[in-house]
Amino acid sequence: MTDPDCIFCKIINGEIPSKKVYEDESCYAFMDIAPFEKGHTLVVSKEHIEFLTDLRAETLTQLILTTQKVAAYILKALPCDGFNILQNNGECATQTVPHVHFHIIPRWNNNTEVHWHSSKAYDSDEEMQEIHKRIIFNGQ
Ligand code: 5GP
Ligand code: ZN
Repeated sequence: MTDPDCIFCKIINGEIPSKKVYEDESCYAFMDIAPFEKGHTLVVSKEHIEFLTDLRAETLTQLILTTQKVAAYILKALPCDGFNILQNNGECATQTVPHVHFHIIPRWNNNTEVHWHSSKAYDSDEEMQEIHKRIIFNGQ
């Protein structure tokens, strides 16, 4: 399933050029055009699905295993000391391309400029408990 208006579908089918890093039957990896760090790579599913939560288990399995494989290669080949995996769902989460993808963002030990862990405090213990009640999940 592809979407003719989607940038990533166009990249996968070659309509838009990209710096390909890896490809297999179900996934395509390429360099991000506006990297957070040098070597920033995107791994996309070949299926046009917007949210991670809508992927079939088999597709998600392929995508995460491919992301692991590509990240392991980048770690050695670039090289870098570590990496972040980023995966955005929805505009409110800064997803700009509505086609599921994982970001692999290389990091180095001497880089002190990674500031994306901003903390959001609960107003009270009661509020935390109330939210806990809403999201506690029995696996079904
Ligand atoms: P999102 O914000 O949706 O998680 O990430 C989308 C990513 O796609 C962004 O980091 C952006 O730089 C990248 N991107 C958008 N358009 C293109 C493109 O045409 N080519 C490449 N290589 N990357 C793109
Ligand atoms: Zn698409």
